[in-house]
Amino acid sequence: MNVPAMQRLVAELRSSGIADERVLAAIAAVDRERFVSGTFTERAWDNTALPIAFGQTISQPLVVASMTEALKVGSRMKVLEIGTGSGYQAAILAKLARRVYTVERYKPLSKEAERLLLELRIHNVVFDVGDGSKGWAGQAPFDRIIVTAAAEERPQALIDQLALGGVLIVPVGRDPTAQVVERIVKTENGLQRDTLMPVRFVPLVTGALPVLGQG
Ligand code: SAH
Repeated sequence: MNVPAMQRLVAELRSSGIADERVLAAIAAVDRERFVSGTFTERAWDNTALPIAFGQTISQPLVVASMTEALKVGSRMKVLEIGTGSGYQAAILAKLARRVYTVERYKPLSKEAERLLLELRIHNVVFDVGDGSKGWAGQAPFDRIIVTAAAEERPQALIDQLALGGVLIVPVGRDPTAQVVERIVKTENGLQRDTLMPVRFVPLVTGALPVLGQG
C-alpha cells in the first residue's frame, strides 16, 4: 500500500468533517488501489470517483466515508449493500460490521469483487447477483442498508427489509444533477427521514439486464 498517499487522503477526509475514527481506520485499512485497474491505480488515493468496468464507478472516498459514517455501523450488525461494483464499499463495511450482504446486477463485477475480497482476506461478505432494488428477502431483516446507486424513488422493498431501529442510506433523485442522500430510520412510530448531502451516482437500474454483462 502507498502509505503516504493513504495518509494524505485520511487527513483530507478528516479536515472535510469525517470524525468517526472507526470509519477513518477502515479507509486506512483497505487498499483502494486494488479496486481500480490500469492507469487509474495512480489516482486511487485521490479524493475522486474513478471508472470501473461496465460503465460503472467506484465512488468518491469522501462520499463513501460520509455515507458510512451516517450509517452508524456497529460491530455486531448485519448490513445490506446494493451495488457491489468494485467491492470497495463492501470491504469498508466488512471492517465495521459482523456480516455484509452485497447485491450487484452485473455478474462479472460481483465475481471479481468476490475474488478480490478473498485475496484481501475479507471473509464476512456474502455476494448475490440480481436486482438489488428488491433487497435480499431471504436474509432480512437488516440492521443497516446502504444503496450505492441513485434510486428514482425510495425503494419500498428495502424499507420493508429494515429491522426496527434500522437505518437506510440511499441516494435519491431522477435528475443526476439533483440527487441527494437520504437517511431513513425505522422507528416504532414510523419512518424518520432526513437528507444528508448532494451526490452524483450512477442510476439504480431495475428490471432485466442487458445481454452484455451476463456471463
Ligand atoms: N459500491 C460500489 C459503487 C458501485 S457503482 C463500489 O464501492 O465500487 C453502483 C453499482 O450499482 C454498479 O456496479 C451498478 O451495476 C450497480 N447497480 C445498479 N442498479 C442495480 C440494481 N438494481 N441491483 C444491483 N446493483 C445495481
